[in-house]
Amino acid sequence: PESKLPALGTTIFTQMSALAAQFNAINLSQGFPDFDGPQYLQDRLAYHVSQGANQYAPMIGVLPLREAIADKTAELYGHTPDVNNDITVTAGATEALYAAITALVRPGDEVICFDPSYDSYAPAVQLAGGVLKRIALQPPGFRVDWSEFRSLLSAKTRLVILNTPHNPSATVWRKSDYAELWQAIAEQEIYVLSDEVYEHICFDAEGHASVLAHAELRQRAIAVSSFGKTFHMTGWKVGYCVAPAAISAEIRKVHQYLTFSVNTPAQLAIADMLRQEPEHYRDLPAFYRARRDCLVDALSGSRFRVLPCEGTYFVLLDYSAISDLDDVSFCQWLTKEIGVAAIPLSVFCADPFPHKLIRLCFAKQPATLIAAAERLCQL
Ligand code: PMP
Ligand code: GLN
Repeated sequence: PESKLPALGTTIFTQMSALAAQFNAINLSQGFPDFDGPQYLQDRLAYHVSQGANQYAPMIGVLPLREAIADKTAELYGHTPDVNNDITVTAGATEALYAAITALVRPGDEVICFDPSYDSYAPAVQLAGGVLKRIALQPPGFRVDWSEFRSLLSAKTRLVILNTPHNPSATVWRKSDYAELWQAIAEQEIYVLSDEVYEHICFDAEGHASVLAHAELRQRAIAVSSFGKTFHMTGWKVGYCVAPAAISAEIRKVHQYLTFSVNTPAQLAIADMLRQEPEHYRDLPAFYRARRDCLVDALSGSRFRVLPCEGTYFVLLDYSAISDLDDVSFCQWLTKEIGVAAIPLSVFCADPFPHKLIRLCFAKQPATLIAAAERLCQL
């Protein structure tokens, strides 16, 4: 058939993980832990399966999970979403993002996002007939230039997609960024899709700034999160979005025909986990800070320049002292010849991205990180 997405290939995460497997490299490319999630969570999954919680969940998610999400949101961001109308459980954050974009973006609508941007946004906008306007953020700070942002607004602007803590740059939004965003869009009916899948992996002293903490913006916002990141279970594919009732109603119209509902026993197990072991997500910054510091310390003797990492489980390395190769070629070479797989940054950008930066995932056991760093220190 004539392709609806002719320029699109297989995602870089699948490509690099396959290359890592082929060359038996240490895989710090695709973002996933090489350790398991909590034993209690695993036990609760087995428990709910044994209790026969094996049929369709309610379309919007099981009630105990929506209640636990509402309480966590209230505790962390000072906003209590309505349990029945504002919270929708989805098959990972990926489904929430796709459903939100599909529900909100009409043909010809303009959508603003910030490059480097996570790779699932653009195809969803394109399939909805939207026009993506991409703002190129510059390393090392990757901060938004708000005058540039305002210059991209038009009568057709419908949606802004942001991501904090940011994959792949590992930078975070400040409260002042939300204030700027609100000032810029207040007068127009523009929605905000806030990808906050790393909400609990934030090392910044101020902590994660959620769009849900901004009283005006949250009237127009869809906040998306993922338990895959929070509980080290990326394969469970359970996420959710929080949005005002009228927006949620539109998202649910898409969700009910995309997946209808999400894995029942996994939802119930996650609800138990949120209730019984909230220290898991409260301790997550310290947990991942130790892994970040383990990798960064082990790289201190290398010729890579490590960029600051404020959140996520990724860190950027500048390899300009080591090679002239472009980042895609460098990552292939690194995987095949040095035995470490990483992600090139240019694939997240529409404009040419001339910087020599690669992304490493440190959601790994210390032994994995040290073994990878030893190889990188040879260069
Ligand atoms: N957004 C970002 C920024 C991500 O990094 C990821 C996954 N790594 C997702 C969305 C997708 O999350 P999920 O696996 O829950 O679909
Ligand atoms: N989001 C993960 C990453 O950034 C990958 C998820 C996927 O493979 N789709 O590495």
